[in-house]
Order: sequence, then structure tokens, then C-alpha cells
Amino acid sequence: MANVLWLQGGACSGNTMSFLNAEEPTVVDLVTDFGVNILWHPSIGLEIGHQVVDLLESIIAGKVQCDILVYEGSIIQGPKNTGTMNYFCDRPMKDWVSELAAVAGFVVAIGDCATWGGIPAVAPNPSESTGMQFLKKEKGGFLGANYVSKGGLPVINIPGCPAHPDWITQILVAISTGRIGDVLLDDYHRPKTFFTDFVQTGCTNVVNFANKVDGGFGKRGGCLFYEVGCRGPMTRASCNRILWNRQSSKTRANHPCLGCTEPGFPHHDLVKGSVFKTMKYMGFLPQEVPTGNSKVGYYMRAGFEKIMGGVENILGTDQAHKETSI
Ligand code: SF4
Ligand code: SF4
Repeated sequence: MANVLWLQGGACSGNTMSFLNAEEPTVVDLVTDFGVNILWHPSIGLEIGHQVVDLLESIIAGKVQCDILVYEGSIIQGPKNTGTMNYFCDRPMKDWVSELAAVAGFVVAIGDCATWGGIPAVAPNPSESTGMQFLKKEKGGFLGANYVSKGGLPVINIPGCPAHPDWITQILVAISTGRIGDVLLDDYHRPKTFFTDFVQTGCTNVVNFANKVDGGFGKRGGCLFYEVGCRGPMTRASCNRILWNRQSSKTRANHPCLGCTEPGFPHHDLVKGSVFKTMKYMGFLPQEVPTGNSKVGYYMRAGFEKIMGGVENILGTDQAHKETSI
């Protein structure tokens, strides 16, 4: 049995919407099969007003155990570090968070705003937003670089804008069943099981990437890297392995990955309005030939596919998927 308290700061509720749509397992499965007891959640909690204050105070006083503190949204510290821009239950939310994080078994930050500050923390950051344990790429954030919860782990970060619903529910299961110790975290405290592969792994356009066949929005049979700046080759997330809605992903639907699971999101280019522009620092030079290919054979094949409009158009979708599957 694990008591879960979910709080929300500078957020749009997108991660709550994602969570409520989880499929493997669902939120109902969490409660009925995996011993999760949701103490309170801003969208589905039954308590209101002073009932919530009483609950939070009971947790801080040690009368009610909080095994998992889930936080969605940025920590709003403004103005001038008072936190009064985000009042909740009669006091700044940030004050509740520091006291609750001190008694929680584990702390899980959901979505970019909670993990790295996300969109609210973009300069000039008028709300003085930060993430729970990071501000963008810099470790520290609200709780400080050395924070570890009572369970012995730093803040577990599940980034995304929003985070994939099954990443959320599966980590809650790992904690509630006592297996979170088996889940390795990367340097940004992301569970490696979801954030080791690049989005490109499993993308059905990967042959077109190798052959430099350009694609475009919604256009079948091309890679989205060259013309519309897909960040799949530099973004760690399992979007093409654990599909969205069990159906698809951005890049499978021929929309470029925006790199939403990386601490730099929203990337500088997005802020400047040029998000759909290919990064030049990849160093992927035109004369590079993929390993195992002769130069002549590679250029002949790449040229042919370019003329035909991409490998999917030549082979058909099923065969293209077979060639590119992991
Ligand atoms: S569409 Fe994006 S993820 Fe897919 S192969 Fe091209 S660059 Fe990689
Ligand atoms: S494909 Fe990229 S932008 Fe889309 S959800 Fe995955 S990591 Fe985020």
C-alpha cells in the first residue's frame, strides 16, 4: 500500500490529463491492483477547503503517511522569493512543498515544469519558477542539489510536455510494489528504462534519415530532421517504443519531435519562433556514408529514394516499418 499525494503548482494540468488517460496500467488499476491509495489530487480529490489543509497538516505532523509526493508544475517562487504568486491552502505552495518533501517517502516530479521549470521558467521568468531539483540543466532547483527523500532517492523526474501517461503510472507501481530500487536513474534523475533510447529508435522514418530523404509535416516517406528540425536524434524518450494511445507517436505521424523530455525544453529556437529548423551542430555531413555501405551504392540508393519520395513510398508502410523496427 502506498499513499500518494498529488499537488500542482505552475501548470496547465496537462500531466493530470495524461495521467487520467493511462492505459498500462490505468489509474483504476493502480488503486485496485497495485495498492495505490490516492490521498488527494487537485482534479479528483473529494476533499475541499479546510479538509485539504487538515490533510496536509496531518501529513507534516506525521499522523498520515505520505509515501509518494507527486508534484506537477513549476515551483513558483515570485515575487521576490515570497511564493505569494501561487497561494494554496492559505500559504504559498512552495512552503507546503518544502515541508511535505521533508516527510515524503519518495518525491516524483511529473512533466517539464516540475522537473526543470519548463515553459514558466523561460526568461524573463516573471514568476521566478524553477523545477523541483533542476532549473533547466542545472542541478539544484527548489529542493537543492543534495535533497534525498526519506526513501533515499533524489527527486525522480518524469519529464515531457506532457509526460507519457504510462511512464507515470509504471513508476508509481514500481514504488508501491517496493521495486523502485531496481529503477536506475540517469544524470537528470530520469528513469533509464524510459529515457535511454533516443526518440529516433523505432521511428519509421529512420531509413530516410540515413539516406537524407527530406520529409515534411504529415508527409509520408521522408525524415523530418533536415527541413523541419526533428529533435528525435538528440532527445531521450521512448515515444517510439511505448506508443502514445498505444497507436502512434509524433514522428510516426510525421510531426517533428520537439525534444520535450530534455531539460532545455522549450528549446531556444522555440522561444525565438524558429522551432522547425534543423540544428546544425549534429555534424552530420552530407558526404558521410552509413557504416557497411559502399559510397557509390549508398549514393545511388539515396538518390533513388529521394526521387521516389522516401522508403515508405517504395516499399509500402509495412515493409518500411519492418526494416526500421528495433
Ligand atoms: S523523423 Fe525524426 S526521429 Fe524519425 S528518423 Fe527523422 S530525425 Fe529521426
Ligand atoms: S516525440 Fe519528442 S516532443 Fe513528442 S512527446 Fe516524444 S519526446 Fe516529446
